[in-house]
Amino acid sequence: MLKRNHIGKLLNHNLRLTTGIVVCILSLFLIGYISDHDVPLEGKVSHEDIVEQHIEVVDTVPLNYFVANGIVADSLLLYEGIIKKNQNLSEILLKFNISYALIAQLANKSKEVFEVRKFVVGKKYNVFYSNDTLQKAISFIYEIDAANYVVYNMLDSIRIYRERKEVDTEIMMASGEITSSLWQTMADNNINFNITVNLSEIYAWAIDFYRIQKGDYFKVLYEEKFVDGESVGIGKVIAAYFNHYNHDYYAVYFEQGEAADYFDENANSLRKAFLKAPLKYSRISSRYSMKRFHPVQKRYKAHLGTDYAAPRGTPIMSTGDGVIQKSGYSKGNGNYVKVRHNSVYSTQYLHMNKIKSGIRKGVRVRQGDVIGYVGSTGLATGPHVCYRFWKNGRQVDALKVSVPPSLPVEKKYRSEYEKVRDEMIQKLRGLDVEV
Ligand SMILES: [Zn+2]
Repeated sequence: MLKRNHIGKLLNHNLRLTTGIVVCILSLFLIGYISDHDVPLEGKVSHEDIVEQHIEVVDTVPLNYFVANGIVADSLLLYEGIIKKNQNLSEILLKFNISYALIAQLANKSKEVFEVRKFVVGKKYNVFYSNDTLQKAISFIYEIDAANYVVYNMLDSIRIYRERKEVDTEIMMASGEITSSLWQTMADNNINFNITVNLSEIYAWAIDFYRIQKGDYFKVLYEEKFVDGESVGIGKVIAAYFNHYNHDYYAVYFEQGEAADYFDENANSLRKAFLKAPLKYSRISSRYSMKRFHPVQKRYKAHLGTDYAAPRGTPIMSTGDGVIQKSGYSKGNGNYVKVRHNSVYSTQYLHMNKIKSGIRKGVRVRQGDVIGYVGSTGLATGPHVCYRFWKNGRQVDALKVSVPPSLPVEKKYRSEYEKVRDEMIQKLRGLDVEV
């Protein structure tokens, strides 16, 4: 299963940047930079824009087509562009002297293959056009992502098709010792931000990454995807090891039947499930929605929670183990409680008639513990609890968030799991943590 092992490079970890937020801001900045500085295309194609030899996006697929149609490579020029804001197929192709009528035909014919309205700002495209005074496009290629693209050939008849470059998945390794935060350590060790996010989710229930200590260390095996030898993204983490306060935490990815999850060395799931609802007997009266008619404010606004209607006084339970993060009153929420389950998940419960006594900031609660009672305080028409769910600081639909059930590996897959586990643990043990 392992094709090649690469040992993640460890750089010195003395940098003092704050958190992963810096990484986010940097990448936003980069995205902004790229879209602001793409190749200009005003009217006629200028010579600086022309790249005759370097065909990066398209490989040889259209070239074969041209050759098959008797076109000599010399008679073509290539324009490499990046989709700009509000730019569409006709805007691009009109500059390459394609008629409105033909563009309309292309857009129409494209529907079965790719919806041209789905062009995304910042994506690459290529236009092959004739190296003569006509400068007429004969092929337009849009890159959906690093591996997939759509080809529009308009030589004599229209031909539109999708192509896929081969994606190689390789297993990579990385490791590091915690010097400050997980985010900082990963950034200092040049480990992809997505691996950090994956790790924090895999270990969410086992390790509170806001309380890790100096000297904790980790090793991780993960997939990385390559197209033409260039990295195009990170796949899943396939196994990891975390040494936290001198305890071993193994996580091994395993697919059993339809479901996949991370399991420890004893074949137990690393996750704990949330209770389906914060009330024992209830009905959903309003679902999570980006746009719903607010019954009190009489206008459309996002409803970032799930409402459960129940009689006043019905006990409200914390849906998972955690620590009370907030408990109090606000005009909109009424009496409310927010529970932090770990560094990934938090939940909140609104409009309580009363918060249970003793439920205040810093208090630890177990799954199923009563934290308050149903009411209609704040902006509410009748007694209900508005249940809100956060994942990595973002509100999500509690009913749709994919937290698989925390079941161990099924009996019938046990021996298969043990084989995978042993192989992974052996690989992890063989990897030194460089500090
Ligand atoms: Zn609500």
